[in-house]
Amino acid sequence: MDHADVVIIGAGVSGAVTAHALGQQGRRVLLLDAKDPCAPCFKAEKMWPGNLRIFEKYGLKESALSVATPITRVVEARGGRALAKITTGEYGMYYQDLVNALRKGFPPSVEFRVARVSDVELGPNEQRVSMQGGQSISCRLVVLTPGGGATPLIGKLGFERRMIREGQSTGFGFDIARADGSPFPFESLTYASSGYAARVSYVTFFPIGSVMRANMFVFRSAKDEWVRRMIKDPVVTLCEALPGLENVLGPFTVPSRVETAGIDLWRLENAASKNGIVVLGDAFQGVCPSTGTGFDKVLTDVDVLCSDHVPEWFKTDGMSSTKIAAFYGDPRKQSVDRYSLQKAQYERWAATSPSWSAGLHRAKVAAEMYLAAVRPKTGLWADRTYA
Ligand SMILES: Cc1cc2nc3c(=O)[nH]c(=O)nc-3n(C[C@H](O)[C@H](O)[C@H](O)COP(=O)(O)OP(=O)(O)OC[C@H]3O[C@@H](n4cnc5c(N)ncnc54)[C@H](O)[C@@H]3O)c2cc1C
Repeated sequence: MDHADVVIIGAGVSGAVTAHALGQQGRRVLLLDAKDPCAPCFKAEKMWPGNLRIFEKYGLKESALSVATPITRVVEARGGRALAKITTGEYGMYYQDLVNALRKGFPPSVEFRVARVSDVELGPNEQRVSMQGGQSISCRLVVLTPGGGATPLIGKLGFERRMIREGQSTGFGFDIARADGSPFPFESLTYASSGYAARVSYVTFFPIGSVMRANMFVFRSAKDEWVRRMIKDPVVTLCEALPGLENVLGPFTVPSRVETAGIDLWRLENAASKNGIVVLGDAFQGVCPSTGTGFDKVLTDVDVLCSDHVPEWFKTDGMSSTKIAAFYGDPRKQSVDRYSLQKAQYERWAATSPSWSAGLHRAKVAAEMYLAAVRPKTGLWADRTYA
């Protein structure tokens, strides 16, 4: 391919699903990623039913489910007690398995190439994408989805990242097992902190295949001494931070390495002023994983772009910023982005604030948990009850 309708930079969940969606419309798409297959990395390990609806729309539900373990019942616990059992429709999976499954079976008009993009020249009609090694390709539209990590492309193209909160949180991923080797007496369990001193949002235990996996989100920066202790001595550090946890888990071990990810919250401020390029997913706005809104945000971006805007943009000549701005101004995109940020700020306040209002709030949430057991599909837990 020496000219494409669309060049997509980055084949994570955003880029891979965009390639499927645009390929299904018959667009000539070149999808580029620096690495293939996607190597093990600690990112999303849970999917929700709402995520699956968008995968299904683009014929990708079976691919997504092929690497996922269903979770049907979650026990909600705190203060050393199991409070409520919730029927859910979540799935556990390793992020790289999901990405690698989504990188298969592209429509014939999509080419996937392993290449690191080093530069992009933008114009109101035509774009040129240069890869390391000297190859380049022209196209009408560039979709930039290199994820939230520091990539020189963002600065090179003149995008401005506004930092909302540096060191918002740290995510931990590890396996756990019962000390005596017996199975846990639950399918999945989420344990929230009752106080604020530990700065823990929650820890969730869920199956991926035959492994019991744990994800924990803590409102501390990755440089915090506590993070180092958690990596070195996870059982003791967890039990100290979450009193009563051992009552519901029983004596447990952490047989794997503790993986961590430090999270900053930020967004691009001037993306709408650029000709010929759209930025999607984590590259446009960071996400705090405590919110569980990552895929919702990424897949809404993809769906809004591919279903509502690209078909219109290709009806007429040119790809100026006037066209592109319509994507960033789309009410559906804006509302999901806003919700994700607001939830990040709310989760942090609820888990860390010593104020009386936050204390009252924590007590109310615990009371709601009790009530959820007797009247499911109401109150705070309604959005988590799917069956
Ligand atoms: C610890 C953690 C836990 C999370 N848990 C959840 C969860 O449970 N549920 C949820 O919904 N969300 C969760 N998230 C958020 C979710 O993982 C992200 O929103 C999502 O993975 C972002 O996908 P993406 O496609 O935008 O970026 P990525 O998956 O990061 O993909 C970017 C791709 O671009 C490629 N790339 C980068 N630069 C270049 C270049 N110059 N040239 C070519 N290719 C390039 C990379 O190789 C990579 O494959 C979590 C995030 C973290 C960090």
